[in-house]
Amino acid sequence: MTDIRKWEDNEHWVEIDLDLCVGVADCVEICPVECFELLDGKVSAQNIGECIDCLACEGICPVEAILKHSAWD
Ligand code: SF4
Ligand code: SF4
Repeated sequence: MTDIRKWEDNEHWVEIDLDLCVGVADCVEICPVECFELLDGKVSAQNIGECIDCLACEGICPVEAILKHSAWD
């Protein structure tokens, strides 16, 4: 079973496969507005409402766990 989580507010959303996420934190480090954080070795995007659609996180995940994102969808 795949553990896909979605975080969203009125303007932004992101879907991340937590089974794929290995907690390397590349997305955490590259996001300029700290949308992401690590909780128990898995990413959380609970600050997605801060997203400025900069696209910096696009493609940064080495395991392609960030599936869909309002910034590039
Ligand atoms: S698009 Fe930019 S601001 Fe939005 S979550 Fe990704 S890195 Fe952060
Ligand atoms: S870059 Fe990918 S594997 Fe690393 S914490 Fe973010 S979603 Fe998880």
